Amino acid sequence: MSQNAVPTTLPIHKNSIRNFHELRPQDISKDFNTIIENLYDTLLLILDNAIVMGDNSSIDELVENLSSQYQEVINSINLNLQKKNITKNILQEYKTLSDACPQISLDNWDDYRTGNLTAPSLFEMVEKSFKTVIENPIPIEEKSSKAKILKYVSQIWKDPHCVITSDNTTEDDLMIEGGRIELTCPITVKVFEHPMISNVCHHTFDKSGLVDYFKGYRTRECPESACSQHLQFSDFKFDDVMSLRCKIAAIKKNALNNDDTDIDSL
Ligand SMILES: [Zn+2]
Repeated sequence: MSQNAVPTTLPIHKNSIRNFHELRPQDISKDFNTIIENLYDTLLLILDNAIVMGDNSSIDELVENLSSQYQEVINSINLNLQKKNITKNILQEYKTLSDACPQISLDNWDDYRTGNLTAPSLFEMVEKSFKTVIENPIPIEEKSSKAKILKYVSQIWKDPHCVITSDNTTEDDLMIEGGRIELTCPITVKVFEHPMISNVCHHTFDKSGLVDYFKGYRTRECPESACSQHLQFSDFKFDDVMSLRCKIAAIKKNALNNDDTDIDSL
């Protein structure tokens, strides 16, 4: 028999039920969104400076740092989200278990104190479930375009033409020639200036090319020759990832040109 002076756990008192319903895990997703925004702004700053600097050696490290910071933020968001979801279930489960226990009274106080009667421990239930979540996290899908950019920037920085295999919705096999993403618009045959991607078939074209292509048409077949989707101009939205590819490709080209200049001047 336990020699506790007071019971370690008690069922919730019926007068406390109202307070119990107000128990809610804190929603910190807004704070995380602010962090994502800040990381994204920092990335733009780095890339804009890279164009001016023309030397990419320090940029490599900055992009890599930013990328791992982003991954840490995403992991935290993920954990928070899962904790939030399971907390709701735990509270419900705890209440059911607790309601099944006899209400505390002078008569059964000793039974609760000595452990003849036991009430569930909310703390233990939460701790146990959180441990499972931390050990088996479920990866979340980054939906915002800023999050997507931060997720892929490290890969694209290394090779602006790289094929991103983890996301099927932004890339399409038809765009890949020899495992490379082309940075030129099939309509204008120039490097993308304002890339726009189809929500329907995920083919990307430059805005100026699309404006010409849809002139006088409400719907038309996708300009990609191997694609027969019927599209409207309004099916297209700005392609953030393609824009990032082009920006980085320009930075790399600029750095190469600077190297050439140095060699020439020697
Ligand atoms: Zn298409």
